[in-house]
Amino acid sequence: DRGGNVKVVVRVRAFLQRELQRRARCLVEMDPVSHITTLRAPDEQETSVASSPSKARKLTDKSFAFDSSFWSHDPDDKDYANQEDIYNSLGEEFLDHNFEGYHTCIFAYGQTGSGKSYTMMGTPDNPGLIPRTCEDLFERIDAAHNDDSSVAYNVRVSYFEVYNEHVRDLLVPVVPNTPPNYLKIRESPTEGPYVKDLTEVPVRNIHEIMRYIKVGDASRTVASTKMNDTSSRSHAVFTIMLKQIHHDMETDETTERSSRIRLVDLAGSERAKTTEATGARLREGSNINKSLATLGRVIAALAGPKQLRSGKRKDIVPYRDSILTWLLKDSLGGNSKTAMIACVAPSDYEETLSTLRYADQAKRIRTRAKVNQDHIS
Ligand code: ADP
Ligand code: MG
Repeated sequence: DRGGNVKVVVRVRAFLQRELQRRARCLVEMDPVSHITTLRAPDEQETSVASSPSKARKLTDKSFAFDSSFWSHDPDDKDYANQEDIYNSLGEEFLDHNFEGYHTCIFAYGQTGSGKSYTMMGTPDNPGLIPRTCEDLFERIDAAHNDDSSVAYNVRVSYFEVYNEHVRDLLVPVVPNTPPNYLKIRESPTEGPYVKDLTEVPVRNIHEIMRYIKVGDASRTVASTKMNDTSSRSHAVFTIMLKQIHHDMETDETTERSSRIRLVDLAGSERAKTTEATGARLREGSNINKSLATLGRVIAALAGPKQLRSGKRKDIVPYRDSILTWLLKDSLGGNSKTAMIACVAPSDYEETLSTLRYADQAKRIRTRAKVNQDHIS
């Protein structure tokens, strides 16, 4: 069970008020059986309004096959996928892997407003993957404690964001009128790249973990009112470290399984695309694009034909060209089981096509996950 492709799923959200007002048409269709997602070309009039006459070309319908498709467009539809459905179909499976000792990573990709944060964090009434994973994690630990005392569990969490090629610890309170404290990245031969001095707090139950999520989200919000619109330009990385220490009474052996659960809410993809399209040199201050643009190149390199010559592969993939890709190196092409959730808006042909193409490429990435287990004594 070592090799495996990045699991790629797509989710389309409901219309927002502004889309209802302009009587937008839903351009996305999903076949609930085959999971084929089809993007319909907008009507002639819509096209001429939406895109400039200079790039007059005929838009066509496009179809893509993904591992799963989540129809979250119309709550009255029998195929409607709510937050719980998404957890049951993806989150739960990944948490199973964590208990088996695998590292996992789930990241949400898509333009601003496509539903990334809704999918990852959700709202108090409709919690997303992160709170559901935390809840299930402690339910499983509590259940295990009740019927088997030979395993001890240790859970720690960290929460940081990458903004403008800086790493900011979201669990450290923001002190007004002081410059933000940016952290550095280091690389360990065994653990790979990591954030130096990042706060990692032990948590004993769901209440403690939820409290830290609140602290982190508040820290993101505080900063976003200062630097306009941070949340759509920053990448938020929430990590849970799960340690299972198993003592075998008969053999008197102790083994330890460590797994890392990484849940990533990426910056809006529209910016990376704009940079690529114009080929503009990244100006200082528009570093915000760099991590996402590099992610695109990393995915292309991992998915491309060069992947076949596996010996050379590592040298070609430009992980170290951005903070985000450097930190996610393991999750993208190494020791991790990884999933990408491509979030799309229902009536934005250009952005949705770009996201679906990106997702289509990510399908070809293979990772090499292993069980992280050590004998201690
Ligand atoms: P992003 O993080 O990609 O910028 P958000 O998650 O903030 O986008 O979603 C944009 C808006 O759409 C929010 O108001 C959010 O509550 C709403 N939304 C997103 N996905 C869904 C969904 N599946 N069902 C209902 N509302 C959604
Ligand atoms: Mg968001």
